[in-house]
Amino acid sequence: MSINHQELDPVKGSAVPSKVVIIGAGVFGLSTALALASRHPETQIVVVDRLTPPVKDGTSVDTTRCIRSDYADPIYRRLAEVAQDMIFQDPELQPWTFKQGMTYVCDGRPSRFTTTWTEERDQARLRKGFAESTQRSDVFHRIHGIDAVLPSMEHSDWNMGFSNMTAAFIDAEEGIRVYYQRCLRNPSISFRCGVPVKEIVTEKGEAKGILLESGDQIDADLVVVAAGAWSAKLVSLGQRVSPIGHEVVWFKVTPEEEARWKNMSITTNLSTGLNIFPPYRGEIKVLRRSPGFVNTITVPDPESPAEKMRISYPRTIVDNPTDEIPWDAEVAIRKNLREIMPPLADRAFDRTKICWISTTPTADFLIAPHPRLRRLHMATGGSAHAWKFLPIIGDWVADSIEGKLDPELVDKWSFDRLSNGKDRNAPRMDGKPQELNEVVRHRL
Ligand SMILES: Cc1cc2nc3c(=O)[nH]c(=O)nc-3n(C[C@H](O)[C@H](O)[C@H](O)COP(=O)(O)OP(=O)(O)OC[C@H]3O[C@@H](n4cnc5c(N)ncnc54)[C@H](O)[C@@H]3O)c2cc1C
Repeated sequence: MSINHQELDPVKGSAVPSKVVIIGAGVFGLSTALALASRHPETQIVVVDRLTPPVKDGTSVDTTRCIRSDYADPIYRRLAEVAQDMIFQDPELQPWTFKQGMTYVCDGRPSRFTTTWTEERDQARLRKGFAESTQRSDVFHRIHGIDAVLPSMEHSDWNMGFSNMTAAFIDAEEGIRVYYQRCLRNPSISFRCGVPVKEIVTEKGEAKGILLESGDQIDADLVVVAAGAWSAKLVSLGQRVSPIGHEVVWFKVTPEEEARWKNMSITTNLSTGLNIFPPYRGEIKVLRRSPGFVNTITVPDPESPAEKMRISYPRTIVDNPTDEIPWDAEVAIRKNLREIMPPLADRAFDRTKICWISTTPTADFLIAPHPRLRRLHMATGGSAHAWKFLPIIGDWVADSIEGKLDPELVDKWSFDRLSNGKDRNAPRMDGKPQELNEVVRHRL
């Protein structure tokens, strides 16, 4: 079946996609490539990335990601339930999926995080696999066992929790490898990896293809920007999408510790932003949904190159391999661990990184035609929660390209969706992001 060009919006939509270029081989890009290829086998699809997938510093590539569906927002809850089942039933993803549940903790003091916690707890109550920890000791013993000695604290933040035992974690790097290999097996999809896209080529208000840093040009009838936190350099996104980095650290654990903690749930504290994963391959990963970091640079405005714009742009371990997370991030992580994982609180990190997210004001994705340039489609704004939608996110992008996305989702993921003051779907701490250049440390 080919795309019926008459059905496409002649103004906003993209016409005649007999050749599609997708910029970015993360969750959005790979899933979109597969969805378009399965709907339109005669369309030629070229996925372009700066590096070969799994892209080492791509947001989609990490040791672990949470797969859960207990959103306070009913739309994401419904979508995540579908996606979660698809992940659990996918025979190639199953070996990398670990159903150990997720425990949500909060400090119990009134704040927007406790409100989200309460709403999510009430939702989780209706499900199978719900368990509540009403006291600090319950939260602690869930990880360390009933005989473990609870550290006494003057000020405690890990005070109450509930667990959703239907949640899982997935080896995100292996998950992306599965999808990359699936794309490679598809005759309609090819890859051009190793050279970044310099710019989107436009003519008379239409995207015509892409220009690589090498000087090569690839023509296309439709360009899909799925470049994650890097998208802001290719397309002028204003306030709609802001690249923000968050701190992630890994600790080596001994075989005895791995055995002791192997059944713990992913444990996250909505009040402090800390997220601790169960041991996996001899290490424990900890991250913090802090106010985050920006890396401000000045670049030509893609829509009027004579003008300049200031954007945040990922600074990663690929170009800056000695970067270490800033000092205050380390202090905040260790303060949390002193209360909830005391054996790790003073242990040296094995490694750290800043993981970049294409953050949006409401944590709603950006899946929409470009408002001013025809034949250009956006598929980004994953914020801190898009990985779990890997099996279906590409279908939404394909629906959006074909002009048949559910109207509720058109509105939610539109180009002009700005802040409603609520970010309940992937909340991060209040506060202004710091300029990374000013606080980053370097490993000697
Ligand atoms: C710390 C952290 C924790 C998270 N936890 C979860 C979780 O538990 N569960 C969950 O569901 N989600 C989670 N997320 C969110 C999820 O990982 C992201 O929403 C998702 O991976 C974004 O995918 P993407 O395809 O937009 O970006 P990416 O994976 O970054 O893909 C974009 C690709 O574009 C390429 N690219 C960029 N610019 C260019 C260019 N100029 N030329 C060529 N290629 C280019 C990049 O190399 C990259 O490979 C988390 C994110 C972070 C950072």
